[in-house]
Amino acid sequence: MTDSTFKALLLRQDEAGKTCATIEQLTTADLPDEQVLIRVEYSSLNYKDGLAVSGTGKIVLNWPMVPGIDLVGTVVDGGESDYQAGDQVVLTGWSVGEKYWGGYSQFQRVRPEWLVPLAQNLTGLQAMAIGTAGLTAMLCVMALEEGGVKPDSGTVVVSGAAGGVGSVAVALLANLGYRVAAITGRESTHTYLKQLGASQILSREEMAARPRPLEKSRWAGAIDTVGGELLSRLLAESDYGATVAACGLAGDYKLPSTVMPFILRNVRLQGVDSVMCPVARRLQAWNRLASELPQEMLTAINQVVSLEQIPERADAIIKGQVQGRVVVDLQL
Ligand code: NDP
Repeated sequence: MTDSTFKALLLRQDEAGKTCATIEQLTTADLPDEQVLIRVEYSSLNYKDGLAVSGTGKIVLNWPMVPGIDLVGTVVDGGESDYQAGDQVVLTGWSVGEKYWGGYSQFQRVRPEWLVPLAQNLTGLQAMAIGTAGLTAMLCVMALEEGGVKPDSGTVVVSGAAGGVGSVAVALLANLGYRVAAITGRESTHTYLKQLGASQILSREEMAARPRPLEKSRWAGAIDTVGGELLSRLLAESDYGATVAACGLAGDYKLPSTVMPFILRNVRLQGVDSVMCPVARRLQAWNRLASELPQEMLTAINQVVSLEQIPERADAIIKGQVQGRVVVDLQL
């Protein structure tokens, strides 16, 4: 194994600080000195990967970097860990693809504590169609449930609905029996969003006006991937006792809001992070994703690309042009 070469996408910085992505041939001797050697079958492209590969955001902390914040594959050598050769494992988050080498490589060495076993009723391809985005969507749904939002509470709204997190959130909520409203900036995605289970579609434009501190209430819950004024509008339009799960900043990292929704409508704003999410909660979320996300939804949500196609897809995702999830097949 040590002698044979395999391909990986590497990011390097040139003298002007520009990020350059190239496919390179590596051997296992080039990989980080971590315990578990994995033959990577699939990875995925998340918004954060798009920022890293295109050099748009300051995501990469060590150079050179193999990006890819998600991977699924088979253990080749578990080292001193409890993992055995042949085990199928999933990795999302933990700063992999930012600080530590990630999934855009046919082989990778990682820490055992970053891994969870692949859920029995999921294939590797399905696990990456879910990936960080889907895990985050599930964590958002769990946050709404913990806030007391039930299918009969009223409509739940999802922003950035045709993106990765948004698509899985719409499909999950609809399958759980919630009435789902989807906010999208792209008319071309309306049929897709209805297919995932959205019963109401709102355009980004109609939601764009700066909200008053309180607007007419209409949401029992919200999953927001966009941030900025859209998040402040969702808060201002929340029902009494609603929960809003905020996980993203595809529009803006700022939150120009007031305290009114919190002190007059008892609205709960719950932050959601998947990167450092504790293992027990991850396992709970993965088990629920494996049983509560219909397979035909996962098929509708994902598109499969090769390592060579990543730079082009990375540019597309940061321009908000990707529909659903992008899975990277490392064997293509
Ligand atoms: P995607 O690019 O797949 O989806 C984002 C969607 O947001 C787009 O498809 C678009 O949806 C919408 N959008 C894009 N730009 C704007 C804009 N300027 N104004 C309003 N809407 C916009 O990304 P992901 O789904 O992978 O990630 C979504 C967000 O969630 C990102 O900010 C990401 O960093 C964050 N995230 C956070 C995680 C966490 O652990 N907290 C984990 C994963 C992601 P449409 O076309 O339907 O309008």
